[in-house]
Amino acid sequence: MKIDRRHLLKFMGGSAVGVVLSPLPWKVVDDVSIWTQNWSWIPVPVRGETIFRHTSCALCPAGCGLKVRCIGAQPIALSGLTGHPTSHGFVCPGGLLGHHLPFSSRRVTQPVRLTKGGREAAPLSTEQVASDLGGVLARLKADPAAGRFAIIDALPGRSTSLAYRRLASQFPGGAYILPPDGIRQSLGVFDGVAGDAYPELGVDLDGARTVVSFGADLFEGWGTPGRFARKPQSSDGGPRLTQINPRYSNTACMADTWLPVRPGSEAILALGLAGVIVKERLFNSGLSTLIDGLDEIPDFRDLLAAIPVTRAAEVCGISPEAVMTTAREMGANAPCLALLGAGYSGGPFGEDDRLAVNFLNLLSGAVGAPGGLVPRRSLPQMEIEGLTGDLVPPTDLSEVPDGSIAFLMIDATVPRQAIPAALIERKLVKDKAVVVSFSALEVQAIGRSHYVLPVPLYLEALEEIPTSSDSPFATLSYSVPLVPAPPAASAPVEWIGRMAPTAGLDWAPLSADTLNEARIRAVWDCKRGSVYSYADGTTKANSEFASAEELGTAFKAGACWLDSSADSVKPDLTKSPYFKPETWGRLKRAVNARIEVRSKPSDDRVLLMPFTTAFLATASPLAGKLTHESGLYLRPGEALMSPSTAGRLALREGQKAEVETSKGRLRVRIRLDESAVPGTVFVPVSETDADPRNLCDIGEDCIWRATPAKLRRLDV
Ligand code: SF4
Repeated sequence: MKIDRRHLLKFMGGSAVGVVLSPLPWKVVDDVSIWTQNWSWIPVPVRGETIFRHTSCALCPAGCGLKVRCIGAQPIALSGLTGHPTSHGFVCPGGLLGHHLPFSSRRVTQPVRLTKGGREAAPLSTEQVASDLGGVLARLKADPAAGRFAIIDALPGRSTSLAYRRLASQFPGGAYILPPDGIRQSLGVFDGVAGDAYPELGVDLDGARTVVSFGADLFEGWGTPGRFARKPQSSDGGPRLTQINPRYSNTACMADTWLPVRPGSEAILALGLAGVIVKERLFNSGLSTLIDGLDEIPDFRDLLAAIPVTRAAEVCGISPEAVMTTAREMGANAPCLALLGAGYSGGPFGEDDRLAVNFLNLLSGAVGAPGGLVPRRSLPQMEIEGLTGDLVPPTDLSEVPDGSIAFLMIDATVPRQAIPAALIERKLVKDKAVVVSFSALEVQAIGRSHYVLPVPLYLEALEEIPTSSDSPFATLSYSVPLVPAPPAASAPVEWIGRMAPTAGLDWAPLSADTLNEARIRAVWDCKRGSVYSYADGTTKANSEFASAEELGTAFKAGACWLDSSADSVKPDLTKSPYFKPETWGRLKRAVNARIEVRSKPSDDRVLLMPFTTAFLATASPLAGKLTHESGLYLRPGEALMSPSTAGRLALREGQKAEVETSKGRLRVRIRLDESAVPGTVFVPVSETDADPRNLCDIGEDCIWRATPAKLRRLDV
């Protein structure tokens, strides 16, 4: 029989009708639906009773109070606590989605050794970690000439911090290093003015009527954001806020006034404001004698005379009227606070900026006054066997000589702004150092670590949250475990305990629980302050707790301890650096150098300013996807600049370009926006090779705020 096209068409048509009428396709569709809904990796919503638990967020030092909605044992939603005495119901996007973090694809669940600059990771057993790293530590102990041991603490002030200092003390030249903390370092200008009992100052934002913020992102990451975020809703509208920033940040958007200054000119603006306040005698009237005494210092007189309003305005790129208005508002609306802070807006400020800005606090009478910078006590220190005696003092990374660290431990348990990899590398013994990070997420592993050891993540362990740097009084709270940690995750002290026998360390077995219990006992013993309970919103005097165990039970149910304030302390301002002539000599030299740089603008150069996108808003897998895909934040490899600067350099929106500094080159894609001050290119900090901080000049003081750069078009 001859088979022609007609036969073929008939066969295909008949087959189609036959298949539709047979049960086969419907059975296949049914089975596929059932399979795809039951694969083991499909998330299955938990079922069970709805219960509410309470805790504190441990993702940053602010320690916001949280109410956690759980289905069975699984947290499914977090929300703020309106009555919380420091966070006032605020939760940032990162805190709101903190319970997503255990599902992050960047979760570290087992110890790994990293090679090829972190591009390859080999899993290790706990025993291998103990013997490998214990052996390296033993060799270092036996041969101090090989370099020093150092440890960087992510969150100083915890009981664990004392254990780190004890560890560093066992090595000749060992260093316990504090992380960069703009608030601590800025307030440190007044260290010692309030006497030994009050070694620190905090910020009484609640009492301030005027706040002049030099880059402090009060609404999104500086200190405890909840303290300022509620201000717009308060009956009096909160303090008047002037935001001084080279970029229109979220805080600048919420401020009463935004002064878009050029990066690096902040100290000049502060001294220009000081000049007006001194000349028009707008300073606190109780300080007349002290300020008149300052006038006897020649460098002080010369410096203020060298920065008249017009000059300050010209160098900063703002109008003279803006300088005059700000200075007069500061004088008229006391209590007035001048705050300095590198947050999401840019890199850290240096000592000259700290001195210049804090002089405004001295002039306004803010030091030691309600609504200003107030003295506070430290957290009560605990007594624990093996952790007393002579311990190495805390130090900043800038005080550690370059090329001297042979073994570096980095506690990266709190996700915060990382130290540039280039800066870490500068401090290491070249090509021979070992870097170990304790981290729950890959993104936290600071610098280029050789080993990453997993630690419990937020909500997986009892974590101590000590006083935030900005708090006006000492506080203590705990983040409580709500979900199990991966089996291989251990607290850093427990990892160190495993290395100790091979390393030959004098290390009494320590667990995170032992340290937490000792801290709670120390707070209970001091009998001061009060405890706020999250569940019922009540406050009870610390002295009313019958035992440390009862206080511990309250902490684990959700509570925070607040120290009593230090109302009667009168700081001695003459102990501050402003009454030493060398301070003014130093500021004069720094300001002259900056004015000279600004007076030589270059047509083909811009200032490269790395800035941090809100990591906490992108750490959750869901929020990270949303923020990246919505374009809410700049992605790694994008560069923000003003349309006028782009026009000068013949660049346009979306164009590929190359940023070049003396340290290297970086390919970027141009994004144009009026929110950037002219002459500056803003590139987001990244954990990848596209990190702009690796292109920055990092000074001896470890500051890397802005670096001169060239921008070149690539796709012409
Ligand atoms: S990350 Fe910080 S600011 Fe955000 S909720 Fe947690 S503690 Fe508060």
